[in-house]
Amino acid sequence: MHTHTITIGGYTLEALIDVEGAFFPVSVVFPDVPETAWEPVRAWYPDTVSGSDKLYTRVTCYLIRGYGRTILVDAGIGPGPAPLFGHARGALLDELARRGLTPDVIDTVVLTHLHPDHVGWVTRDGQPTFPRARYIVSHAELEAFHRDDVRAAMHAIVPGYLDQCLAPLEGAGVLEPVEGPVELSHGLKVALAPGHTPGLLRVELGDATSAVWLVADVFTHPAQITYPEWCSAFDMIPDTAIATRKVVIERATTEGIPILASHFPPVPGRLHQDGASIRWEPVSR
Ligand SMILES: [Zn+2]
Repeated sequence: MHTHTITIGGYTLEALIDVEGAFFPVSVVFPDVPETAWEPVRAWYPDTVSGSDKLYTRVTCYLIRGYGRTILVDAGIGPGPAPLFGHARGALLDELARRGLTPDVIDTVVLTHLHPDHVGWVTRDGQPTFPRARYIVSHAELEAFHRDDVRAAMHAIVPGYLDQCLAPLEGAGVLEPVEGPVELSHGLKVALAPGHTPGLLRVELGDATSAVWLVADVFTHPAQITYPEWCSAFDMIPDTAIATRKVVIERATTEGIPILASHFPPVPGRLHQDGASIRWEPVSR
């Protein structure tokens, strides 16, 4: 597996792929988008589609090291086998081990949101997987994922995962809900970017001269950079998701900030105006 490391603002950032593959039909993820609308998208992003009808999806976590800190952003699908992802087993702990890292070196885990493909590794055998870490989640997200309707909808996708993931963290007192923009470490901030889920957090890393944003699932597919109104079936509050995408596109374009997204190819990309459309263009470093 390739490694993708960038250096920014005194940190190294590595994209760790927990799993990747052609798991989901396009028509399931984007039920409201007509088939023909995908034609240009396939040409723009050939490594994000598979065959005629599937998306090629990565589930990416990020390892951020610097200023004495070792921070993990998101926790993948988990040890599996995960039926939603072709019964795959996540590779996150193997990826850490390949770097000589054991789970106890992680001091902070940022949970961008509480969908099952972002929290899979937070616990093992009923205990926090990363025993020294505090786990950051937004207050709005935590509140929403305690609601009966949300819990029932999530249970229908991956039975029982919220109980397995959240209860041990809450029991151990290591979950730290945050309200809004918070600096977690020098030049490393989280801020709310709601819509895909009620309290999704994006991560900003860097400073005024150079920065990168980890936008998690604000965009499920790079097509949504061009077409922010395309909602995935997993966008929990579609109108808010669209509004958030527009804000992120506007700021990332005008400020020239590269973005990484959990399910895109695992490299930062700049938003680039090409004629009438804005596209995501991987930055080569
Ligand atoms: Zn996701």
